[in-house]
Amino acid sequence: MDGYKGGWIEIIAGGMFSGKSEELIRRLRRALIARQRVQVFKPLIDDRFSTDDIVSRDDRRLKAIPVPTSAELLARVEIGVQVVGIDEVQFFDAGVVDVCMQLADAGIRVIAAGLDQDYMRRPFGPMPALLAVAEEVSKMHAVCVRCRGAAHYSQRVSGGDAQVEVGDASYEARCRSCYELYRAEEIVEEPAVQLTMPQPA
Ligand SMILES: [Zn+2]
Repeated sequence: MDGYKGGWIEIIAGGMFSGKSEELIRRLRRALIARQRVQVFKPLIDDRFSTDDIVSRDDRRLKAIPVPTSAELLARVEIGVQVVGIDEVQFFDAGVVDVCMQLADAGIRVIAAGLDQDYMRRPFGPMPALLAVAEEVSKMHAVCVRCRGAAHYSQRVSGGDAQVEVGDASYEARCRSCYELYRAEEIVEEPAVQLTMPQPA
């Protein structure tokens, strides 16, 4: 991106399957090709994320550093880094907004990708504030599985009602017309055995 002096914040937002991570990787690769010093972070939210993802497949293999908090992210940024990438930024604590601001104020280009809304279409975690403070916002769209239009939502199709449900199989990309309010399957109790009272003769 041209035109900004010093650091800035770019947010790549959208639903599941919308290509946010791919777009993040594309931008980070370009920075690497331009021989900039890049670091990539992701939230450590559970064991699924404990292994380092290889974010770039070129020979300058780049790994995402899992960090449990935004404070830890800030502490791990190395001197001389020019670009900081953050994947799944919606899972970070609210402090990630200040961290992004501090990094950008220090002259670093911050590129963060995340879900803008949860399956109930509620703005996700720190995303509203990040979208507000960013110099540039890209809204990504998936393809609606029902009508093939541009999908803006992550439709939950199975599982409970927690905000975070593990696994892509629990979601479909849906557009506004095809989105349906999800209700978690109710746990149906096995009906107790009814004892038939002997009827008076
Ligand atoms: Zn649709």
